[in-house]
Amino acid sequence: MTSIDNRQIREAASIARAISHPVRLQILNELRGEGAYVMHLTAVLGRPQANISQHLMVLREAGLVTAIRDGMTVLYQISDPQVLNIVDDLLALAQKRIESRGLAAGEMESKQGGRRRRRGKCRCPRCSQEDRSGRHGRG
Ligand SMILES: [Zn+2]
Repeated sequence: MTSIDNRQIREAASIARAISHPVRLQILNELRGEGAYVMHLTAVLGRPQANISQHLMVLREAGLVTAIRDGMTVLYQISDPQVLNIVDDLLALAQKRIESRGLAAGEMESKQGGRRRRRGKCRCPRCSQEDRSGRHGRG
Protein backbone atom coordinates (compact mmCIF):
# COMPACT_ATOMS: atom_id res chain seq x y z
CA MET A 1 0.00 0.00 0.00
CA THR A 2 1.23 3.50 -0.76
CA SER A 3 1.87 6.00 2.02
CA ILE A 4 -1.15 7.15 3.98
CA ASP A 5 -1.29 10.69 5.27
CA ASN A 6 -2.01 11.49 8.91
CA ARG A 7 -5.35 13.06 8.15
CA GLN A 8 -6.53 9.84 6.54
CA ILE A 9 -5.33 7.78 9.54
CA ARG A 10 -7.11 10.07 12.00
CA GLU A 11 -10.30 9.95 9.96
CA ALA A 12 -10.14 6.14 9.73
CA ALA A 13 -9.62 5.87 13.50
CA SER A 14 -12.55 8.15 14.21
CA ILE A 15 -14.80 6.04 11.97
CA ALA A 16 -13.64 2.89 13.78
CA ARG A 17 -14.30 4.50 17.18
CA ALA A 18 -17.85 5.42 16.18
CA ILE A 19 -18.56 1.87 15.00
CA SER A 20 -16.90 0.17 17.98
CA HIS A 21 -19.87 -0.22 20.32
CA PRO A 22 -22.24 -3.21 20.43
CA VAL A 23 -25.36 -1.02 20.31
CA ARG A 24 -24.03 1.06 17.42
CA LEU A 25 -23.15 -2.09 15.47
CA GLN A 26 -26.73 -3.29 16.02
CA ILE A 27 -28.11 0.08 14.91
CA LEU A 28 -26.04 0.11 11.72
CA ASN A 29 -27.17 -3.44 11.03
CA GLU A 30 -30.82 -2.44 11.45
CA LEU A 31 -30.43 0.56 9.13
CA ARG A 32 -29.54 -1.78 6.27
CA GLY A 33 -31.76 -1.17 3.26
CA GLU A 34 -34.15 1.75 3.51
CA GLY A 35 -33.15 2.83 7.01
CA ALA A 36 -35.25 2.93 10.17
CA TYR A 37 -37.08 5.21 12.58
CA VAL A 38 -35.95 5.74 16.17
CA MET A 39 -39.08 3.97 17.45
CA HIS A 40 -38.18 0.95 15.34
CA LEU A 41 -34.65 0.82 16.76
CA THR A 42 -36.05 1.23 20.28
CA ALA A 43 -38.47 -1.69 19.79
CA VAL A 44 -36.06 -4.03 18.03
CA LEU A 45 -33.06 -3.39 20.26
CA GLY A 46 -35.16 -3.25 23.43
CA ARG A 47 -33.42 -0.14 24.75
CA PRO A 48 -34.71 3.24 25.97
CA GLN A 49 -35.16 5.89 23.30
CA ALA A 50 -32.73 8.26 25.05
CA ASN A 51 -30.02 5.63 24.80
CA ILE A 52 -30.74 4.93 21.11
CA SER A 53 -30.73 8.67 20.34
CA GLN A 54 -27.37 9.08 22.06
CA HIS A 55 -25.82 6.36 19.92
CA LEU A 56 -27.45 7.76 16.77
CA MET A 57 -25.85 11.10 17.57
CA VAL A 58 -22.40 9.54 17.75
CA LEU A 59 -23.01 7.83 14.40
CA ARG A 60 -24.26 11.07 12.86
CA GLU A 61 -21.32 13.09 14.13
CA ALA A 62 -18.98 10.53 12.60
CA GLY A 63 -20.87 10.91 9.32
CA LEU A 64 -21.92 7.26 9.23
CA VAL A 65 -25.67 7.87 9.28
CA THR A 66 -27.89 10.63 7.96
CA ALA A 67 -31.18 11.84 9.38
CA ILE A 68 -34.08 12.66 7.07
CA ARG A 69 -37.12 14.42 8.44
CA ASP A 70 -40.27 12.47 7.58
CA GLY A 71 -43.37 14.27 8.84
CA MET A 72 -43.43 14.09 12.64
CA THR A 73 -40.51 11.70 12.85
CA VAL A 74 -36.98 11.18 11.50
CA LEU A 75 -35.78 8.40 9.25
CA TYR A 76 -32.17 7.34 9.80
CA GLN A 77 -30.16 5.89 6.94
CA ILE A 78 -26.63 4.65 6.35
CA SER A 79 -24.75 7.51 4.71
CA ASP A 80 -22.52 5.38 2.49
CA PRO A 81 -22.80 1.71 1.43
CA GLN A 82 -19.15 1.26 2.43
CA VAL A 83 -20.19 1.62 6.08
CA LEU A 84 -22.18 -1.61 5.77
CA ASN A 85 -19.22 -3.33 4.13
CA ILE A 86 -17.21 -2.58 7.27
CA VAL A 87 -20.03 -3.83 9.51
CA ASP A 88 -20.42 -6.99 7.42
CA ASP A 89 -16.67 -7.65 7.50
CA LEU A 90 -16.62 -7.23 11.29
CA LEU A 91 -19.61 -9.55 11.73
CA ALA A 92 -18.13 -12.15 9.38
CA LEU A 93 -14.77 -12.04 11.16
CA ALA A 94 -16.51 -12.32 14.54
CA GLN A 95 -18.54 -15.31 13.34
CA LYS A 96 -15.41 -17.00 11.98
CA ARG A 97 -13.65 -16.54 15.32
CA ILE A 98 -16.62 -17.82 17.31
CA GLU A 99 -16.83 -20.89 15.08
CA SER A 100 -13.11 -21.62 15.29
CA ARG A 101 -13.24 -21.32 19.09
CA GLY A 102 -16.21 -23.71 19.12
CA LEU A 103 -14.32 -26.24 17.01
CA ALA A 104 -11.22 -25.91 19.17
CA ALA A 105 -13.28 -26.59 22.28
CA GLY A 106 -14.92 -29.53 20.53
CA GLU A 107 -18.41 -28.26 21.14
CA MET A 108 -21.28 -28.33 18.67
CA GLU A 109 -23.54 -25.36 18.99
CA SER A 110 -27.20 -25.91 18.37
CA LYS A 111 -28.14 -24.08 15.20
CA GLN A 112 -31.73 -23.44 16.25
CA GLY A 113 -30.85 -22.01 19.63
CA GLY A 114 -28.14 -19.73 18.29
CA ARG A 115 -30.13 -18.06 15.55
CA ARG A 116 -33.30 -17.39 17.51
CA ARG A 117 -33.97 -13.69 17.43
CA ARG A 118 -36.36 -11.85 19.67
CA ARG A 119 -37.83 -8.91 17.80
CA GLY A 120 -39.80 -6.41 19.80
CA LYS A 121 -43.26 -5.51 18.57
CA CYS A 122 -42.70 -2.42 16.49
CA ARG A 123 -45.27 0.13 15.39
CA CYS A 124 -43.04 2.32 13.27
CA PRO A 125 -44.42 3.30 9.82
CA ARG A 126 -42.26 0.78 8.00
CA CYS A 127 -43.17 -2.21 10.18
CA SER A 128 -46.90 -1.48 10.21
CA GLN A 129 -46.74 -1.26 6.44
CA GLU A 130 -45.05 -4.67 6.34
CA ASP A 131 -47.77 -6.02 8.67
CA ARG A 132 -50.50 -4.85 6.33
CA SER A 133 -48.83 -6.36 3.28
CA GLY A 134 -48.59 -9.68 5.09
CA ARG A 135 -44.85 -9.92 5.59
CA HIS A 136 -42.90 -8.82 8.59
CA GLY A 137 -39.28 -8.01 9.24
CA ARG A 138 -36.40 -9.87 7.72
CA GLY A 139 -35.95 -12.75 10.09
ZN1 LIG B 1 -40.37 -0.90 12.87
